[in-house]
Amino acid sequence: MNYLDIVPSYIAQIIPYEAGKPIEEVQRELNLKKVIKLASNENPLGPSPRAVEAIKKFVRKVNYYPEENAFYLRAKLSEKLGVPGENIITGNGETELISMIARSFLTPDNHAVISSQSFLMYKIAIRIAGASFTAVPLKNYTYDLQAMKEAIQPNTHLIYIANPNNPTGTYVTTRELDNFFKELPPNIIVVLDEAYYEYVLRDDYPDGIEYFRKGFPIIVLRSFSKIYGLAGMRVGYAIAYSDIIQTLNKVRSPFSTSSIGQAAATAALDDAEFIQKSIARNNEQREFVCREIKNLGFRTIPPSANFLWFESDSDASVLYSELLHRGIIIRPLRAFGFDNSLRVTIGTQRENSIFLNVLQKILKKTTKNILKKKA
Ligand SMILES: *Cc1c(COP(=O)(O)O)cnc(C)c1O
Repeated sequence: MNYLDIVPSYIAQIIPYEAGKPIEEVQRELNLKKVIKLASNENPLGPSPRAVEAIKKFVRKVNYYPEENAFYLRAKLSEKLGVPGENIITGNGETELISMIARSFLTPDNHAVISSQSFLMYKIAIRIAGASFTAVPLKNYTYDLQAMKEAIQPNTHLIYIANPNNPTGTYVTTRELDNFFKELPPNIIVVLDEAYYEYVLRDDYPDGIEYFRKGFPIIVLRSFSKIYGLAGMRVGYAIAYSDIIQTLNKVRSPFSTSSIGQAAATAALDDAEFIQKSIARNNEQREFVCREIKNLGFRTIPPSANFLWFESDSDASVLYSELLHRGIIIRPLRAFGFDNSLRVTIGTQRENSIFLNVLQKILKKTTKNILKKKA
């Protein structure tokens, strides 16, 4: 008997979440001065300036515990979204909420439905709860809602949907989501992850909150880590029926949304100028990066958020590693089930140009080597 034998098998088999490498780690390990990170879909413009002001103001009060139920942040969200405060809960980033939902609604006897090529946290959260899951393949790189519905079993409690999907950047349309909610069996809660909601400007992109208003069994998730530029603050929120929110509050760690995080997020919600600027920059640069990547011969999927999926003819981990050694961090997608593809965050014009230049140089070098070997 070893002390590790007490670890439940469903915990032992978890592969920990692998995040995009932080800039400091790459600087340290590869002894590089200049490093660009385009790996975790953060906002390259930095945090909202209003949030920075709020953080500075609040810093002298961090000796006190945060407001336990994030009163001001929930009030501001309530005002902005037109949703009563009792239908809102905040968390230590959206990822905490993803995990809280699994712990609240799943036991080892239950089952969840996820996609096989999507955000890795769903799988981890389900496994922590000891439950089983069916991972449904994407169809044309997009969530196959019909197949997900067909994967429902009598003991299924949760269905996780990322819209848009990370890492492919595709989204399910209003029509598809409408159909999905039709004749959904009872006892099921749909978790709709809208981490990139603010970036998607398409007429047929659904707003999860509308489905909450229509009375569907849904939990809508959103984040301050992406367009608001506050990934390091760890703030996310969920919108659902009040009895669902009350259940989630039972499993939440007290004070999980930090006081500074609450202050920063509340201020960022009023920073319309920053959001507009972030969207404009993203739209412009996304078109540029997309065009250039295609010119370099990669296959892409039309993006809808602030990142781009692209595919080469061979194992992409070589390309990833070559970029990394030149100080550019992007995301390899093997863990997502894509061996030949990579995901890059749309950065500033400067970051994108450097990335594309370096990528082009690597490709030239590789082509030369191949020709040399053939000769
Ligand atoms: C980035 C991201 C999140 C955000 O998580 P936080 O914990 O709020 O930083 C959630 N879901 C998806 C699909 C994401 O890509």
